[in-house]
Amino acid sequence: MVKRALISDIHANLESLEAVLEDIRQQGVEEIYCLGDIVGYGPNPVECVDLVRRHCRKTIMGNHDQGALFDPEGFNAVAEQAIFWTRDQLERPVGSSQQMAERWDFLGELPLRIEEDGVLYVHGSPRNPLNEYVFPDDIYNPKKLERLFSLFPRLCFHGHTHVPGVFTPRPEFFSPEDVEYEFPLGQEKLMVNVGSVGQPRDGDARACYVILEEDRIRFRRVEYPVEKTIEKIYAIPELDNSLGDRLRLGH
Ligand code: ZN
Repeated sequence: MVKRALISDIHANLESLEAVLEDIRQQGVEEIYCLGDIVGYGPNPVECVDLVRRHCRKTIMGNHDQGALFDPEGFNAVAEQAIFWTRDQLERPVGSSQQMAERWDFLGELPLRIEEDGVLYVHGSPRNPLNEYVFPDDIYNPKKLERLFSLFPRLCFHGHTHVPGVFTPRPEFFSPEDVEYEFPLGQEKLMVNVGSVGQPRDGDARACYVILEEDRIRFRRVEYPVEKTIEKIYAIPELDNSLGDRLRLGH
């Protein structure tokens, strides 16, 4: 099995994406899959789409990517305003109008799920790849997890909640700290939330991603110049200041 990095929920945070790509290089990873939400909330949607197109072997559609492409549905006011601003940015011919068209084509053609070699990759959940959240507290809803575990072969990697960790079928949830950032892969089915590159919400403000290896997964946390991103958000009226503040807190 190739050593594969799984990144998700970049949310137009260029500083965190660059830091994660650098960490991935240093870890000797061969390829990168992106599990969606390249854009939304953050100040650099165009740059992040371009970097993901260049560096990721496969990419899945996230709900914010879809919101930027079509009519946003089910978003709160702050998120919706950010989506309209994001769409506006993507409609500017940064580079050339050909590059702009290629960005839209790339986003518009993203698949909702990828399944290969017994592994399912989605943004939200195996049941509703785009929109369903699977939170740590869902272990107290065993019926929901039982259903989700029945919908993939061996492993499922997902994002969407911005809360990284491992779900087992028992069901249990382990945060990255619970398992010292490493979890062995055996016969047991697992659902792994890879966390968020650009807007972590588990109380740790560092960017998060996962490396999939032959016999284990590893969670990586990466420092990045968060104040720089926050300053950019403060300077854009359409992006609510709270979107910057939450980056500092990691929730
Ligand atoms: Zn997201």
